[in-house]
Amino acid sequence: MAAEDADHAALIGKEFNTTEELSTFLQNHALRNGRKYRLYDKSGGRSRKYVCTSGEDCPFVINVNRRRYAKKFCPWYISSAMLEHANCQSAPKATLKQMLDLKAFKVAASSTKLPRAKDLIEQAKILDDINLENQLRTVYEAMKVIREKQSSGEITAYEPRVQLASFVDQFKELNPGSYTNVEASDDDDSFLRAIVVPGVLVRASRFNQLFYALEAGPINGQEYNQLLLIGRDGNLQNITLAAAIVDSASKDNYMWFFQACTQAGLKMDVPIFVDRTEPLLACGKALKLQFVHSTDHIIRDCTASFGCLFPTVKNLISKLQCCETRQLYDNTLQVIRRTANKDLALYFEKIDPEQWALFPNITTRPLYSWNSSNLIEAEMTAAQLDHVQNIHPVLYFESVLSLSIAKMYDRSCLAKSWIKERRQVTPGAEELFEKERQEAVNYDCLCSSEVLVYVSRLSEISTVVRRVDLEKKTCSCKDMVQNRIPCRHYCAALTRLGKFEQVYDAFGSEYQICTYAEAYLGRHIEKPLQTDLDMHNNTTTYPKYPKRKAPASPQSTNTHKKTPKKTSNDLDYSTDDE
Ligand SMILES: [Zn+2]
Ligand SMILES: [Zn+2]
Repeated sequence: MAAEDADHAALIGKEFNTTEELSTFLQNHALRNGRKYRLYDKSGGRSRKYVCTSGEDCPFVINVNRRRYAKKFCPWYISSAMLEHANCQSAPKATLKQMLDLKAFKVAASSTKLPRAKDLIEQAKILDDINLENQLRTVYEAMKVIREKQSSGEITAYEPRVQLASFVDQFKELNPGSYTNVEASDDDDSFLRAIVVPGVLVRASRFNQLFYALEAGPINGQEYNQLLLIGRDGNLQNITLAAAIVDSASKDNYMWFFQACTQAGLKMDVPIFVDRTEPLLACGKALKLQFVHSTDHIIRDCTASFGCLFPTVKNLISKLQCCETRQLYDNTLQVIRRTANKDLALYFEKIDPEQWALFPNITTRPLYSWNSSNLIEAEMTAAQLDHVQNIHPVLYFESVLSLSIAKMYDRSCLAKSWIKERRQVTPGAEELFEKERQEAVNYDCLCSSEVLVYVSRLSEISTVVRRVDLEKKTCSCKDMVQNRIPCRHYCAALTRLGKFEQVYDAFGSEYQICTYAEAYLGRHIEKPLQTDLDMHNNTTTYPKYPKRKAPASPQSTNTHKKTPKKTSNDLDYSTDDE
């Protein structure tokens, strides 16, 4: 109720010079609070009572009176208010003017192509946190007004490029170390592609797990594709490091994207999980990137080429990927050739095992999640973008960055509380480790020295013996290299030697709380607020082909401080600062 108390304190005594000013203020107050108010009582022209549209059940009321001290000038003021709602059925309803003032409508008004009413409603949900589903008629009315203003030249529609250039310039100013780029087509100067990489995420990426995943797909109906470079933090949570929209999924655009990531300062010499599409693979080859494929990527690709796969075949593919030796890999491939499909076997013969199978990577580089499911679905659902069509590029980046802002703050809070709890490693890593720790009791140890232990499974005739080296913090099994978390053998060896308390030292540095805190504690991302204003600036303030690499020039800084001219008509773009 603290927010309500503060609101109450701010309201009481507030003055309004005209009746119009008063009702505009109350309309905005209602919309902001997700309600609609109505005038309940006028007594003698000197006092008014506003209630919410819910009716008698809701106690909400705002009383307004006229000051009596002046003869000619009698401003309205709020004399008392009861701001709490109870049993409230009141639903917000935006007036035409309010609707035109919404961010979603302003952005729509300034773009060359007006979205469909349905999409506009979706965008208002994201950008303005308001549901206009029951106001379709007013939405159409607002669109009509916008169209008229556009055709009469009262508002100028701009290419997304101009708006984006302004948006990303401001983003870069607010977030030092960030990388942004907006490019126009050489032919007609129209928007081509854009990328934003927040500086704090570049910095934090050095403390994350050592891999990325690229997720690519259409976002904007058929018009644009989005490219996301996703990493995973030390708590095993996905994190969007770079977001771009491009006009097509071409090799050229992929090259541009990965080169931009490099220029942004992201370390690109780690495994990158990608789909097996032709332009993408060609790009990886040209840039010598370490492309790898998850089981899902491979199965999706196989299904596209060979039709639906039987579960037994899918299992064989997973098995092939997990083979720990070349010999086992070749044998499994033989099985696929004999039992499943010759073409399928041929398909795998053509793929370099290093790009997807475990055995060539087993001791060299951690692939962490080589059999994990698709990374993007969680990201996209969270961004609420999966069902929005024809989204304006500015809105796209605004949504993606808003999610990054929220997640960054979450991570900072988590780091703080984990330090307080005196944790040594992240809960995500701890959970993975817990399974290994519990398994350790099933293993037998043969100590060779104080640091060297041979570990094998109890009561099982098995030739598999693992070699644990406590000094080098290694085990000969795949898990410790691949996950950088102590394996069951390592736990068994430590327990046998009575040194289990040392187990946390064997976690990869990315899981240590001190590393996580170094990456995220007290870090934050900011986003521009002036988008809607600046996009009405003259196009000529932006270079024709903004491929700038240097920081924004002082001249372009000035343009951000210009206040746009206010118009006297009902498309007044001034915002209510109350
Ligand atoms: Zn109410
Ligand atoms: Zn092991």
